Parts: sequence; C-alpha cells; structure tokens
Amino acid sequence: MAQDKTFYITTPIYYVNDIPHIGHAYTTIACDTMARYKRMKGYDVHFLTGTDEHGQKIQAAAETKGITPQQLVDQIHVNFKDLWRVLNISNDDFIRTTEDRHIKTVQAVFRKLIDQGDIYKGTYSGYYCVPDETYVPENAMGPNKTCPDCGRPLTIMEEESYFFRGSKYVPELIKYYEEHMKAVMPRVRYNEIMSFLKGGVRDQSVSRTSLKWGIPVPGDEKHVIYVWFDALINYMTAVGYLDNPEMFSKYWPNVRHMVGKDIIRFHCVTWPLMLLALGLPLPAEIIAHGWWTVDGEKMSKTRGNVVDPFKMVKAYGLDAFRYFLLREVPFGNDGDFSELALVSGINSDLANDLGNLLNRTLQMIQSYREGTVPSCSDASSELSRMYPEVLSRVDEALNNYAYDEALKAIWEFISRSNKFIDETMPWKLAKSQEDSDKVSLSHVLLNLYESLRLAGLLIAPFMPDTAKRIYSQLGQDADPLTLNYESFTWGAGAGSTIKKGEVLFPRIDLKEWKKAREAENAPKAEEPPHEAEIGIEDFGKVEMRVAQVVKCEEIPKSKKLYKLEVDLGYEKRTVCSGIKAFFTTEELTGKRVILVTNLKPAKLMGIESKGMILCASVKKDGKSEQLTLLTPEKDIPLGSRVS
Ligand SMILES: [Zn+2]
Repeated sequence: MAQDKTFYITTPIYYVNDIPHIGHAYTTIACDTMARYKRMKGYDVHFLTGTDEHGQKIQAAAETKGITPQQLVDQIHVNFKDLWRVLNISNDDFIRTTEDRHIKTVQAVFRKLIDQGDIYKGTYSGYYCVPDETYVPENAMGPNKTCPDCGRPLTIMEEESYFFRGSKYVPELIKYYEEHMKAVMPRVRYNEIMSFLKGGVRDQSVSRTSLKWGIPVPGDEKHVIYVWFDALINYMTAVGYLDNPEMFSKYWPNVRHMVGKDIIRFHCVTWPLMLLALGLPLPAEIIAHGWWTVDGEKMSKTRGNVVDPFKMVKAYGLDAFRYFLLREVPFGNDGDFSELALVSGINSDLANDLGNLLNRTLQMIQSYREGTVPSCSDASSELSRMYPEVLSRVDEALNNYAYDEALKAIWEFISRSNKFIDETMPWKLAKSQEDSDKVSLSHVLLNLYESLRLAGLLIAPFMPDTAKRIYSQLGQDADPLTLNYESFTWGAGAGSTIKKGEVLFPRIDLKEWKKAREAENAPKAEEPPHEAEIGIEDFGKVEMRVAQVVKCEEIPKSKKLYKLEVDLGYEKRTVCSGIKAFFTTEELTGKRVILVTNLKPAKLMGIESKGMILCASVKKDGKSEQLTLLTPEKDIPLGSRVS
C-alpha cells in the first residue's frame, strides 16, 4: 500500500505571543531531522509547524498595543518563521489558526459533533480572574485561590458552555493504547496517560462566552470555541480534512505528533477522543520530549537565563547547535543546556573527530594520489564490514526517536575510521617502493574516502549544511540530502577528484572563550541616581571655558585643597580645588582644564575662589575614590567656551 511510505510529522503549533527560545528550537529541529531522514529513506513526507493565534492573552496584548488581535498576530507570527529559516527547517507547511482554511475546518468539526450529539450545551463553572478575563485551572492557582498571573483573588464563575462528550470514547481509547504500546512514547509518558485514562475522564468544556478572540461556534456566535479544541484541529486542517480527501487519506493514518511533556494530556487524551468521535484513525505515534534547564537551573524570564537560539547560531554556527541539542540528551529526558558543553562538543566531536578525519584523508589523497581517489580490486575492510551495522543502528535509534543513540553510532564509526589511519600508517606505505605497499595505500585511501562519503550521508538529516560541505570537498556533486541510503555502495567513490576546502569546524580556544564569557558576565555598573530633567536654557546658564593651570600651591592646614592660578587668556584667576588627594602640584602645573567661570565666588580657607574646575569621579559614601580632570582633547585657545 502506498500509505506505508508516507510520513506526516508535526510540531505543536506554538503560542504566537511567546518569544522563540531553545525549547521551540529543540522540538522543531527534532522534527526536521526526522523529516529529512524519512525523505532520505524514500518516504513521502509532510512536515507541519505553525502558530496558535487565538485566546485571551492575544486579545489583551493587542489592546495594550492599541491594535486589533489580527494585526498583532500578523506581526508576531513572523518571529517563528524567521527562526525556522535561520535553523534551516524543512517544513512543508506553516499553519496559522487564524487562517480561513483552519476556521472552516474547526467549524465543520464542531458542527458534525453537535449533529451527532457528541457536543452538547451545559453550564461551565470554574475559578475566574475578572481583570484578566480568564479561567484558572485548579492545579495552576496561586496560594489562597489567587490568579497565577496577577495575584488577585479568583471568583467562581458560571457560564453557559458547550461540552464535548469525550467520556463516551474513553474505553475505546484505553483499548487502543493497550494494543498500541508505541502510540505514546517514551514509556514513562505512556504509563502516565494510561493511569490518567483509567482514573476517569470528564466531558470537557469546549466553548466560552467570556472570550472574544477565537472561532465562533457555528450558529451560536456568542460562543467562541475553546482555544485547545481549536488548536488541535490544525493537524487535520493542514492535510485537507475538509477539502482534499485524497491528501488527507494519504497522510492521515501515518501521523506523528512531537510535543513537550507538559502538553501530553491534550495530545494523548483530548485529541484522540476527538478523533474517535469523528471516526478517524488515531495518530501512529505521539512523542513527548523533556524540558531544558540552563546550567542546571530552570529557564525563566525572571532569571534572565532564557537561551536565545538566534544568538547561539550566530555565536557557534547552526550545525553545531543542531548537533548539540540532539546529541546532548536521551530523547524524552530533560536536558541541560550549557554553552561550555556546547563548546566542548564542537572541539571534540566536530573539530577533532569529524573535521580531522576529513582533513587528514583529503590531505593524503592530495599528496599521495594527486587528488584522485584510487581504486582497488577489493575495497572491503573493517570499515566496510562495520557500515551496514551503523546504518541499522541509526535506523533503529531513529525509529525510537533516540537521536542521541543515532549520533553515537555515527560517531563510533567516525572514531573507528580515525583509528584506521593510525593502524594502517599510510605515510609509511607512501614511502615504500614495494608494489604490495602501493596497493595497500590505495586500499587505505579508498576506504577512508568511503567512510567520509558514508558519514556525510549519515549526518545529513542532523547537519544538512555540513553534509553538503563534506560532499563538496569530496568532489561529490550531489547534495547528500537528495540521496537514498539504499543507493550507497561501498567502493563506488573510486575515481572521484577531491576539492579540499575550508576547515569544517575551527577549534574554539577554551581560554579565550572563557575570558570572553567572563567579560560578558561581569557585573554592569549600577544605575546611578539622576537629577531632574533640565532645558537647554538651564544648561546655557552655566558658563564654562578652557583654562590653563599656571601655578599650584598647597594651602597650609588643608588636607584637600590646592590653591590654583588659572589663565583664561583674557584674565587670570585664583581657584581653590579639592583635588589634592589625586595630584601632585607638579602634575597640575601646565594642565589644561575646564573652568566654570560664572560660579558665585566663595571663600575657602580664607582664600577667595572664583570658579570651579570640572572633574569626573567615582564616589563612595560621599567621598571620591577615583578622580580625573576634564581636559580638551585637542589644542584650542584659552578662554574657548564649552557648550
Ligand atoms: Zn489575574
């Protein structure tokens, strides 16, 4: 059946008001890698992502900005599209829940369920935050039944609502899961869902009258369809449930949803119950991944440790970032993001293992065979015998979404290839005049070349650009992503002409890197207290001019003051200045300074001081700790006005 070769994979639709962070990047890169892998396995893949654009928070955010919710989502959904472009995501479609195709589908589903009696009218009651106009589930309430967002007390509210008769389909869903143990992955989530289902599921409210920004219930427009009910249906909309039966039947039974573990109840309970009510096949797999912490701490806006994927890609390169995310954690577990671990991974796995294998091999083919890959009658070696096993390990790992295991298998092969160089010592063979050694050298070089040709193929779904760069240096015209694993034949690379290029992953100097990090993390100056704002006319009242210190004397008994004679070009004046702690008399004599000339004269230690010399200083407890004079940067006549 043709359907066996289709593969429909989805990310959750992301809440459009979120700032894209590492969690979004991770889910989407995981889906992208899987989509690319399946395409290379010959599947007809449909890869969907998009944005969830309805709900109270959008409405409120739009109101603060003074624009309509539609204008707001039109502006901000682009944040996600931009990120997917930067992360080289190969999605086939990007759905927005405010699109016409989606609104029509949701309304059609809603009507069908009303017509068959699976959606009915009742009364919803729950804890409600009046100022935020939103219900708060009991497990999300703050202390003493307060709103988790604004902290104000919640009130119990009742409203007319439509309910989805999901409870009716629970036994059928339990039976399905019992027969399909891989329908929810990993196993820990499967168990969680099974025990939740067995504990009983109540019918869920699927409409609100208190909300405006959403899809109206067809025929009863004072109700708006509850956002989750609306959002989940996107997976059907995008493959033509409403208007493209051919596309729908092609992809539907082979659908995979990738989700974070926080939204599995919606995906593994609500959603399948909706599908059962609609008489549709259930998703083949729902895969739940863990959360990311940052340097061991929970990621949050208030901690200021939210990892910005744009920044990471800019600093370390896209493929290094993709590699790190997928290699770092066993899929399904929580992962910890640390830049240090990322940098170490770049240096060891990417620069050392992969980069060196490519460099050394191409260097030798260049020196010993003038850039042409030699052929030999029997290309088989330990590496060629290892490769089918690597392919099947990668396949098995990816069928279980164990990206880390797949990468581990690939890197074991890369390490084995590096070891092969050390064992066979081609530089010795190259010096020998024996015919048998010449044959051996050809054999070694061909095998190394083939291991790189295979490595390029294997890493392509994970690191598409790097794979392409490797192939280009190997002198292979094809983009590895367009190849099929089955078409790989060991030895077929003989006769190729290499094109040695740039180093794949330059090593990062750890010392320099740490220094730069420390500088970046150094505490910034605290915001100082400020004076009230003044107008330019206030500032203009202060007359300041360039002057030169012509004489500097100590004042007996004063610890702080010097008596200075300053020349303004048009007159000379005496000024007392409290800068004794910072200069010697010699240092000051001859210095050009800025003098406030229209300050009311003052008597200091019995001397009349006419003016004030400008200084910058760092003060602590009212005392200057550091101090410097302001001095004209270029030569300019004495008496010049400062403005
Ligand atoms: Zn509130």
